[in-house]
Amino acid sequence: MLQALYDGKIEAFRKQFLKLHPYDRAKFYVEQSPEVRKRMYEYLSPAEMAEIFDHLDIEEDEYKIYLSEMDPLFVAQMLAHMYADNAADVLNELDKKEVANYLTIMDDEAAKDIQGLLHYKEYTAGSIMTTEYIAIHANQTVRSAMQILKREAANAETIYYLYVVNEQRQLVGVLSLRELLTSDDDVMICDVMNDRVVSVFVDEDQEEVARKMQNYDFLALPVVDMNNHLLGIITVDDIVDVISEEATDDYSKLAGVPDVDIQYTP
Ligand code: ATP
Ligand code: MG
Repeated sequence: MLQALYDGKIEAFRKQFLKLHPYDRAKFYVEQSPEVRKRMYEYLSPAEMAEIFDHLDIEEDEYKIYLSEMDPLFVAQMLAHMYADNAADVLNELDKKEVANYLTIMDDEAAKDIQGLLHYKEYTAGSIMTTEYIAIHANQTVRSAMQILKREAANAETIYYLYVVNEQRQLVGVLSLRELLTSDDDVMICDVMNDRVVSVFVDEDQEEVARKMQNYDFLALPVVDMNNHLLGIITVDDIVDVISEEATDDYSKLAGVPDVDIQYTP
């Protein structure tokens, strides 16, 4: 694969590289020299690079280095293709001016999604949630909810739960994919949804979110504000990261060693 990259054999490189799991692509990417990485930017699209960045687990200053190697427009397009929560994480490592710059050249919808996530305090539910969830209404049929699911599935972080909201976008119910698929087409969503929804507040501590996720065994939890407006979701894969971070913290304290950042395999 490296040989193809060195020799400038674009198609051969792409064919081998894109077969890898995004996590393995990310691993490969960080192991390369700046020169080789620059070649990768030329051979891959912003969407393909976005998949790599969605799977990177690196230090703050490394984000700065990688981004500075790319053309700003390419960076903006890549960020727009990333999940909004991950893109916000990356931008939170940069200077305000740089952030503003990327957001200006990005397409409006993606910029709005990311911007909305930039202001949440670290270690809160808001800081780890994503806005790419599937929302439906109580007064629609299973058939029409299925159409929404089909339309939104490609962009949603998880399709396993559909969240039911009212006109004010307040959270009123939840339905699993399994429940949707096993319901008759003409049934109303309000008749099959669960209306006792477990949610977390946007400013709740991420450890508390992890605890709830473990206790209830859900694959995702909805995040709401004080007035029960649905703001986003947190998926279990983001919680796995929280749990390993907290474990490192606690272990370091216990062992009486300084709180060093251990490189984790996510
Ligand atoms: P089961 O395991 O019972 O077959 P499932 O596989 O459809 O259910 P699970 O992920 O196991 O889905 O969720 C269990 C149940 O919890 C489902 O009925 C789902 O609608 C419901 N549920 C999902 N998220 C929430 C939530 N945040 N609050 C309350 N209920 C929820
Ligand atoms: Mg289940």
